[in-house]
Amino acid sequence: MIMDETIECPGCGLKLPDRHISSADRFNASGECLEMYYELTYWTLARQDCRFIHQHAVDAYEAQHGGGKTRPITAVFGLIGLYLALEKGYTGRQVQLAHMKIAFRRKDWPRLEPPARKAELTVMDVLTAETDEEKEEMLLKWAGSVWDIWEERQQWVREITEGTLFPSDT
Ligand SMILES: [Zn+2]
Repeated sequence: MIMDETIECPGCGLKLPDRHISSADRFNASGECLEMYYELTYWTLARQDCRFIHQHAVDAYEAQHGGGKTRPITAVFGLIGLYLALEKGYTGRQVQLAHMKIAFRRKDWPRLEPPARKAELTVMDVLTAETDEEKEEMLLKWAGSVWDIWEERQQWVREITEGTLFPSDT
């Protein structure tokens, strides 16, 4: 019996059956992984919750799929969103507003080299959770596991976020 060929996502390391789906440059991801992400976003957007949990999915995916041909802002904004959500308790809606402020105030971002270590959770873990409540819980666990692998950059992210969002009056 011939094993199906699998393709490994360059961003998150998720292995999926290779269906030769081309990938977009916006993320450093396999087309197969990206398709899982789009499927997840159908669910997050359909929630239409006032907290806008969709934002956490965008940020976790961006922070997990930086590098490669992506723009530097992709990983940085993903990390800023994860920091605000996980350490400051921001809702997705509040993160979205913070992103807008930060994007307005600063245009150039350094290219962050993605950590060698892969996060334990991927978009697949959220998608395969059964109920809406379990999915939502897994979404935040996924975000946390992505934030964890960026340990060496966390302090930089905290400082750049606070410094840009709340510049001290001089
Ligand atoms: Zn991936």
